[in-house]
Amino acid sequence: MIIAEIITIGDELLLGETTDTNAGYIARKLSGIGLSVQFKSTVGDSLERIEETIRHALKRAQLVITTGGLGPTDDDLTKKVLVKFFKRQLVLNEQLLEEIRERYHRRGIEMPAINEEQALLPNNSTIFKNDIGSAAGIGIIENDYYFISLPGVPTEMRHVLDNEVIPFLAKQNFGQAIKITTLRLNGIVESSLAEIISAELEIEPGVKLAYLPSESGVDLRIVATADSKEKAENKAQKLVKQIEKKVGRFVYGYDSDSLQSVTGQLLSDNDKSLAVAESCTGGKLGEIITSVPGSSKYFAGGIIAYSNDVKVSELGVKKTTLNKYGAVSAETAIEMALGARKRFSADFALSITGVAGPGGGTDEKPVGLTFIGLASAHKSFAKEFNFGRDRETNRARASYAALELLRKDILDLEIE
Ligand code: AMP
Ligand code: MG
Repeated sequence: MIIAEIITIGDELLLGETTDTNAGYIARKLSGIGLSVQFKSTVGDSLERIEETIRHALKRAQLVITTGGLGPTDDDLTKKVLVKFFKRQLVLNEQLLEEIRERYHRRGIEMPAINEEQALLPNNSTIFKNDIGSAAGIGIIENDYYFISLPGVPTEMRHVLDNEVIPFLAKQNFGQAIKITTLRLNGIVESSLAEIISAELEIEPGVKLAYLPSESGVDLRIVATADSKEKAENKAQKLVKQIEKKVGRFVYGYDSDSLQSVTGQLLSDNDKSLAVAESCTGGKLGEIITSVPGSSKYFAGGIIAYSNDVKVSELGVKKTTLNKYGAVSAETAIEMALGARKRFSADFALSITGVAGPGGGTDEKPVGLTFIGLASAHKSFAKEFNFGRDRETNRARASYAALELLRKDILDLEIE
């Protein structure tokens, strides 16, 4: 199995001003084609340091991918280092120059002279085309190593990686096949999940299981490696089956599914619409729902009813309900959902009211206490949740829990 290393280049990454998103993206894509990333490093904009980092990387890895420092300005040093380190010369690539000029032309801008520099590439290198920017990816491919430099701008890096580099690497026949499957669960915490499944699973050699908790629930990621694609897929599938047997009722989706995409699909398949009434989440549920392209097909809209007055005037929550049970109560949640459903003439409505924190908690109603209401043609009800102490986490967890409640209701699954 070949070892891969990722080097991200830039002072801003070292200083923490820009978060390095490139390394993680590349690592995911490489593992998707069975390549094992064993090292990642970040280095600043310094000729000596970049060279030193590349030298180290090539001692331990056969595939090295760098990002950043390919631009035309003085702080972009990667190409200078490559030329020196790999003993190459820069030669003008006429075709690339024409393409860069043409891209500027289309935008109605004369190409700045400094961009000519970007058409200078080391001799004996492989070009990984960049259709959306002027810094092409540069490959220095020898018998015993693959060295690839990509642009730093994340959109351009992803474009070149996905369209050029990954297809190229996938053809190289590096050996091992890998299958990654993610089961996505909501409504169960990581430790309870581990308690139910871990002792009883039979995990074959070459298979790894990871628990990945987040605000949308817990992901179970299975990575299976074998000498053929079929074998890897079989191994992964066997473990998926075992897990589903135990905790299938918490599984809302796989891989790139999300609660918003899955519930959106269910609404759309059943030709149903959804409205929301949000208090403590302040629009977060609506934001998550509308992050799905095409959500206009089923999402009517929502009301952010943060104050009690708005709960009454816009959603028709009764003053007596608020006085007797409080804003954070099952009764209020139900009336909020009923109000939103009516107001938007929707088939389903979800409501959220809770104590997001950090202040505002009492013994009776502590921080984290949240009620999520659901109203449909047949029924209305609310479920109580006790999330944690962190405001942002509570708001996100409440939003995802609401979508899970809707999923269960549409599918007629038992709500525990
Ligand atoms: P460069 O190619 O080094 O000129 O970087 C161009 C832009 O991409 C700058 O705004 C960088 O902050 C950004 N960038 C470079 N590398 C990364 C990275 N690893 N993750 C996220 N952004 C990056
Ligand atoms: Mg830079």
